[in-house]
Amino acid sequence: MRWVRPFSVAMAVLCAACAMPESRLPDLPRDAVAAEQRAQQIAQLRQYYAELRRVDAVAFRLRTANVADCKDWVSAQIGLYAVTPRSLPRRYQSYTAEALGIGWTRPTAISVAGDSPAAKAGIRTGDEITALNGELIPVWGTAGWMRRWLKANGTKPVAVNVRRDGDDRVITVTPVMACAIPITYVVEAEANASASDTKITINSGMAALAYTDAQLALIIGHEMAHANLGHLGKQRWNQLVGTAGGALIDVGILAGGVSTSGAFARQFGKFGARAYSVNFEREADYVGAYYAARAGYDLAGAEEVWRRMGMASPANILPNYSHPVTAARFVQLQKVTAEIAEKKRRHQPLVPELKYVTVEHDPAPEEATSMKF
Ligand SMILES: [Zn+2]
Repeated sequence: MRWVRPFSVAMAVLCAACAMPESRLPDLPRDAVAAEQRAQQIAQLRQYYAELRRVDAVAFRLRTANVADCKDWVSAQIGLYAVTPRSLPRRYQSYTAEALGIGWTRPTAISVAGDSPAAKAGIRTGDEITALNGELIPVWGTAGWMRRWLKANGTKPVAVNVRRDGDDRVITVTPVMACAIPITYVVEAEANASASDTKITINSGMAALAYTDAQLALIIGHEMAHANLGHLGKQRWNQLVGTAGGALIDVGILAGGVSTSGAFARQFGKFGARAYSVNFEREADYVGAYYAARAGYDLAGAEEVWRRMGMASPANILPNYSHPVTAARFVQLQKVTAEIAEKKRRHQPLVPELKYVTVEHDPAPEEATSMKF
């Protein structure tokens, strides 16, 4: 840009009097820095996709095992994620082909979830996927196009044109119905995950705390439970109730001649949003554990993840208004794991009990009513 040079000259003049480091620093050859920059970008993208494959694989098992709980938000899927460099964000495009070993002209499978219809039919990571039932797959917006195509197709078998090592073949894949809430995996060091009205987001810092796939299944299952149980809507409702209550007080005080400028409405709204927040979190942990168990994950010892969370974010060891303390989550998970193991032993369906489990009392699963929610 034209102004950059005058700007740096001005800075240099201005900073003639600035304090400077005393050491004589080595020269930094521009080429060496650029080459290292590219090497780091490639390594980062490879690591990202390796981690994404793990998240995808665990999520796919959760999606299919819990399809009945996802209500209307389900679609036919085959557990395959294919891209071209063009279908990815522009900032990756210059090095995606090299990083992932994929071509520009045909979409390539970069994630095939284990046990998914695509994997069972023999499609592998690295296969070029060129057409579905003879329809060419676009090289732009590839994943979204395939998602929509499969959704419209339903569970009817699909002829997938696959090119592997230069050989063309047609592989028939039968899609299955699965939970369709999108899951975004982001490189973010903070140990966090979230569910909004439209998607689940898993931070890499959170996935890194999950040493086992069972623990990752608990994390994703927790967010799926938030979405399926409508927690966000319930929290908004509580906020509305709080705001309305506070507004009544504001009006009352105003009638007495003092303006509060809506302070009570704002404050009560906040309290409303926090009402039951801790129990919503506990419920998401509880139901999410059932999701993970239904997907076939063994939860024995998985509670360790809450100790690691306490180490990574010490604030979570102490009480706060939004989340249960990590110790409570640890103990609850031990109890839920025992509850699920007992149901398995009795050959009972893995259906969560319809009331909150408390840390202090045994949930006595055989006495409580058990029904689908
Ligand atoms: Zn949560």
